[in-house]
Amino acid sequence: MMMFCLCYVLFLTIPSIVIDILQIYHIKAFAKRQAVILQPKDYVVSASYSLANLRLSIISHIFEALIFIAWVSFGLAAWQDFLAEEAAFGFIIFVLGFVLINALLQLPLSAYKQLRLDKLYGFSNVTWQIFFIDTLKSFALIAVFGFLVLWLLLIVMDYAYWWLAGFGVVFLLMVVINALYPTLIAPIFNTFTPLNNQNLQDKIQELMSKAGFKANGIFVMDASRRDGRLNAYFGGLGSAKRVVLFDTLLEKVSSEGLLAILAHELGHFKHKDIIVNLLLSSVLLFGLFFVAGHLPAGLFDTLRLQNNHATSLTILLLIAPIVSFWLMPLIGYFSRKAEYRADAYSVSLTSAHCLKEALIRLVNENKTFPHSHPAYVFFHYTHPPLLDRLKALDIPQAH
Ligand SMILES: [Zn+2]
Repeated sequence: MMMFCLCYVLFLTIPSIVIDILQIYHIKAFAKRQAVILQPKDYVVSASYSLANLRLSIISHIFEALIFIAWVSFGLAAWQDFLAEEAAFGFIIFVLGFVLINALLQLPLSAYKQLRLDKLYGFSNVTWQIFFIDTLKSFALIAVFGFLVLWLLLIVMDYAYWWLAGFGVVFLLMVVINALYPTLIAPIFNTFTPLNNQNLQDKIQELMSKAGFKANGIFVMDASRRDGRLNAYFGGLGSAKRVVLFDTLLEKVSSEGLLAILAHELGHFKHKDIIVNLLLSSVLLFGLFFVAGHLPAGLFDTLRLQNNHATSLTILLLIAPIVSFWLMPLIGYFSRKAEYRADAYSVSLTSAHCLKEALIRLVNENKTFPHSHPAYVFFHYTHPPLLDRLKALDIPQAH
């Protein structure tokens, strides 16, 4: 048990904190230099916002390690004793209860971030009421989807190689959620209204037809209800695809900039990055299930747990952060390459000038500090640092 906790701390908590600390020193050093991209005042504010987030992240790493130790040293065994053995749906309740208790434990930190830290820097418009309702909705979603997944898992797990079957079920579900997200899940949290700017709509249509892309409508999302930051995405799979523009983006970016951002997103579609991402995540998922399927029998004894599917799956969830931490660089590497390709595609449809302006605008509005430690980029970034993206845009494109 000590070994298990030691592994968690050695392979997750300590490296995460070290990377955060490297980033803190990097930002502190660069904050003293001349401002780039941002106005000097915003540059300083964005540095302090990043530092505040990094400190919070260090606290949460320590907090998560404590939760892990608590689960491993007495929580899981107590939870197992609490639930009657072989009860109907015992498997589902064991795992789902574990997930919901964990989600509950995460609440204080996310409340602090949304209701205090982000508010302090003028991003968050989240009120206690919104936070409370959002939390209830996500818990309901976890309960419903969790129940469905676990029930499916329960059915397939009785076959040999339960971990392989489990992987199949969760992978399928990932695809389904991806497909349903824009039409079924996102509307639970936000309101989507069709874009009613005919001029812009025509331009977006024209852009999409240039890229050979069909979408099931262009929608504006009331992102400003929670957050001042900007974004746009194409969601869904197949014919359920939607263009979603944050209302904040419409407000703050010129229509040329907006088209450049959309062209970038179209680039992801053109290059099938969404599918590549799904496949890469499935590698991670496969790795997780493989590890869970090959846990040493001794581990269950030391944790005072029965060796069954429910406990194996719970241990899988406990070690998932370690596996994903070490696989994230792989996903990040491919993702950052894909971002450069999508930028190049955007340039081919619009212009480097428009995209640059839009990117700079985004960074300004989102108060992203422009400098990052290479180790931090390697472990956490799915997008290249803005300075690198701008530099790449300066190089004349091949086509
Ligand atoms: Zn992108």
